[in-house]
This record gives sequence, C-alpha cells and structure tokens, in this order.
Amino acid sequence: MLALSACRAEKTAPDDRALILSSFYPIHLAVRNIARDVPGVRLANLTQPGSGCLHDHALTPDEMVRLERSRVLVISGLGLESFLDSARVRRPGLRIIDASSGIQPIVDTHGVANPHVWVSIRLAMVQAQNIANGLCQWDPPNAPRYRANAQVYLEALRLLHADMAAALRSVPRRDLITFHEAFPYFAREFGLRVVGVIEREPGSEPSAGELADSIALVRRTGVRALFAEPQYSPRAIETIARATGVPVRTLDPVVSGPDEDDAYLRLMRANLIALKAGLE
Ligand SMILES: [Zn+2]
Repeated sequence: MLALSACRAEKTAPDDRALILSSFYPIHLAVRNIARDVPGVRLANLTQPGSGCLHDHALTPDEMVRLERSRVLVISGLGLESFLDSARVRRPGLRIIDASSGIQPIVDTHGVANPHVWVSIRLAMVQAQNIANGLCQWDPPNAPRYRANAQVYLEALRLLHADMAAALRSVPRRDLITFHEAFPYFAREFGLRVVGVIEREPGSEPSAGELADSIALVRRTGVRALFAEPQYSPRAIETIARATGVPVRTLDPVVSGPDEDDAYLRLMRANLIALKAGLE
C-alpha cells in the first residue's frame, strides 16, 4: 500500500486504507454491510454496476488497475468469475475470499454449476457468513467489528426470508418462467418451480424457433406471468407476452442497483410483490 500510494499522482491525497474489492454488485452489497465503519479499509466494486451477471465478462483495463491496487478480492464463486482465471491477473499477495465456499451447487445437464446462489436468501446468508469469516482471518484486529456487523445483516436477511416464506406459502400457482437461469436456488428455497427460461445465454436473442418453443411452453404450462429482468432487453419476453396474452412482470436477480446498505433487502421485497402478483 505504501509503495502504491507513493506512485500515485501528487494532486490526490494518498489513501493508505486497504482496498477490499468485490467482484460484482450483490457481493459488494454484502461486503458493504459486513465492513461498515471498519477503520483502515475502503471498498470498491471490481466491475461497473451495469455489468450485470458477469456471464462472458472480460476484464477491462480499469478493472486490471483496481485489481492491482486491491488487497482482498471477494468473489461469489462457483465459476461466475472465470474471467479472473487468466494467469496475467493472478498476482501474488492478493487474498481471495470465495463467498460460496461450502455451498453445494445446482448442476445443469452439462455438469456446470449454476452460480446464482445469492438470489437464495438462505444462501446469501451463507455467503455473508463466509465473507465475514474471510475478512476476520485477513484482518484479525477488526474481527469483532466484522462479526458484529455480520450479525446485524444476517438478522435482517433472516427476517426477509421469514417474510418471503410466509407470503409465498399460500400462492396457488408455483410455476415460473424467468428470463435467464438466475432463479433455481430461489425457487427451490420457496417451493416454486422454474418451468422455463427465455434466454439460456443472457444477451443472445432467442431464435424464431426458440421463441415459438417458449410460446408453446407458456400455453402448455398455463403460467400467468412472464418474469423479465431489469438488466436485460425485454424484447423477447414482450414478443411472447403479445403472442400469449400473459403479462410481463419484473423479477430482479439483484445484479445491479443502488449502492446502499439495504439494497438487497429492498430489491428482494420488490421481487416478492411481483411474485405475489404473478402467482395469484
Ligand atoms: Zn446470471
């Protein structure tokens, strides 16, 4: 840190606080809560807020610089940050905290782990605990603060889970069609079923044949809502909605949003309202 500070342009005051980087938005939100008011550290997100889910993400020059300056990198794990695997960004001395450590993934038919664990509230709690443990090990003098912060955040998540479970217990419909494969952990947690996804590869528009398949699936399953995601173009899902008369609602996988401590809680509560409306 001292060496880095000395290299910096003189017009900016040197900042000797250790930089804790988060790979992307939902991890950053957890780290914000757990490292709140901890002295000697500062927080940043590795990727831009608009980067979404990091599928097919490639490291930018700005991100390389942030990585060079960081002391700790907190990742969501389960392969989501595969863009970090390239040898040129692996630098000695950078501590990596894997928030999904110990989580048993849902695996697709190709044997690939689904990385969207933070969308499950219970698994977001496991991630918060892993992050707290990792920060305590890295920064033992501040361990009591990380632990106390984690307790507060875990309690808020526990309440959110209880509210979500109570509200979704009685919905008469349990089938969902979502935009991409972001919701299997969430669905499993609350006894819902993802019966279809519109785009298997986010960002790649479905072909005419795939759209026709989705329209047939909507009619066959009788779902009463299509769930779009705010990070992606709703074009495909609107085409399906027009063809079937099924309304589009929004379900947010919490991969972008405001940089605020309670953002995960608020976005998930908005999801609950959309789900209730779409499943009743
Ligand atoms: Zn995703």
